[in-house]
Amino acid sequence: MTSREARKDGGMQSYKMLIGGERLDAEGGATFETENPFSGAPWALVPRAGVADVDKAVAAARTAFNNPDWRKISASARGALLHRLGDLIAREAERLAQIETRDNGKLITEMRGQLKYIPQWYYYFGGLADKIEGRVIPIDKPGMFNFTREEPLGVVAAITPWNSPLMLATWKLAPALAAGNTIVWKPSEFSSASALELAPLFEEAGFPPGVVNILTGFGADIGERLVSHPDVAKVAFTGGDRTGQSVYELAARSIKPVTLELGGKSANIVFGDALIDNAVKGTISGIFAATGQTCIAGSRALVHRSIHDEFVDKLVSLGKTARMGDPALDTTQVGPITTRPQRAKVLDYIGIAKNEGAQCVLGGAAATRPECGNGWFVEPTIFTGVKADMRIAQEEVFGPVLSVITFDDADEAVAIANGTQYGLAAGVWTQNIGTALTMSERLEAGTIWVNTYRAVSYMSPFGGYKRSGIGRESGLNAIREYLQEKSVWIDMIGEVANPFVQR
Ligand code: NAD
Repeated sequence: MTSREARKDGGMQSYKMLIGGERLDAEGGATFETENPFSGAPWALVPRAGVADVDKAVAAARTAFNNPDWRKISASARGALLHRLGDLIAREAERLAQIETRDNGKLITEMRGQLKYIPQWYYYFGGLADKIEGRVIPIDKPGMFNFTREEPLGVVAAITPWNSPLMLATWKLAPALAAGNTIVWKPSEFSSASALELAPLFEEAGFPPGVVNILTGFGADIGERLVSHPDVAKVAFTGGDRTGQSVYELAARSIKPVTLELGGKSANIVFGDALIDNAVKGTISGIFAATGQTCIAGSRALVHRSIHDEFVDKLVSLGKTARMGDPALDTTQVGPITTRPQRAKVLDYIGIAKNEGAQCVLGGAAATRPECGNGWFVEPTIFTGVKADMRIAQEEVFGPVLSVITFDDADEAVAIANGTQYGLAAGVWTQNIGTALTMSERLEAGTIWVNTYRAVSYMSPFGGYKRSGIGRESGLNAIREYLQEKSVWIDMIGEVANPFVQR
């Protein structure tokens, strides 16, 4: 539904889901309000799906999977649909960016950047659609011909979080569609509007009805049914590690493959020889960009003792300059926390860090500056004197809270960096190529940035080690997460072998 089509209901925008090509309310008409994190006020009504809606959406996706208009079109034609979708998102980029900022509180500047970049995933995987080839295997059995086919899985449940809603959904939708699957997408209950605004673009691009279905509602209401539905062939999930664990457990019961992109406690490691001003900027960007609400947040700064004091002084000086306020303004640098419960969680962790004996050298409280209005803000916060085993150094906060930890040598830095249950990303700041390369090898994380932070691309694999996840998104191999390989045997001789002996 575009904003033009959206019904106004008591001054609030009112959305519908996308199921089987139709715009539908939830069965029974249940809705929930979605709030603007800057004003603190509800601004739209979103359908609250129940189990019956899950069944309807999965049935629509299953029907679409068997529909020759989707199943039998050439891989090139499928790729062309993805290209068209990319073009339409580029056309609607500004509108989608504004909606996301209103619904989720992300900076408009960051949203413009993301919306400009998102089409690249559709172009890249659209281009890949007709380059997925099987193999002829020089099989060891005389008289036999053996080849493989790469086939789609079926209905993919894509479950996404609130922090970069369209980007993280794109990382699933683009490869899954390129591979020929159909989708039931459940966006976060805190950021459903942009998904529903995207809905008409699938039809306009030419996807047959039911190829993409968008189901809105609460994980607690519909998550279990969606994950365990017998007609869902795979679950692609991004979210918290505890939710990911229960999705994994549930998927295991019906032997479904999963992709899990979960949390992190990533370390930005600053060696004594680093270009210190660059490292300061990279560390600030790692933790205060997106108000720290990114899975890749560099929430631990590991700083060599020789430069600790100078580094912290510069960090605090730069951190102090962060302009907080209305995320819709181009000049704002730190916006609100996206959800009320998340703000409470961030403030709880600040309290925990203080009780653990960490020293708060910046922020450390809810933000009450006039430019923050009624929004759900937390001051950019830096703790020093953090010990590697404190909760603030071990648990994901998902907010603008940085822990500074001192180290004496590379071995200690590696031990601290690897000493959490997570392994999503790490940054290394050094001018020594040997240090850069050995650290890249020794760090247990899916992404390593050297003298930079937070770079991602449709071309480069992204995913976690350890409790940060399973599988990879983006890059050539991501399409394999949505395919299954079939082996086909043909007897070329026509002689039936001894039926009592394996051939
Ligand atoms: P969340 O786990 O609370 O929710 C994620 C999604 O799961 C939502 O759509 C939610 O409705 C749904 N859900 C909730 N309970 C469910 C259940 N029982 N079954 C199925 N689905 C259920 O996460 P969030 O708070 O929305 O997002 C923040 C988390 O996401 C952070 O931990 C962050 O690190 C992580 N994240 C990871 C990546 C990554 O790529 N590794 C990217 C962004 C965010």
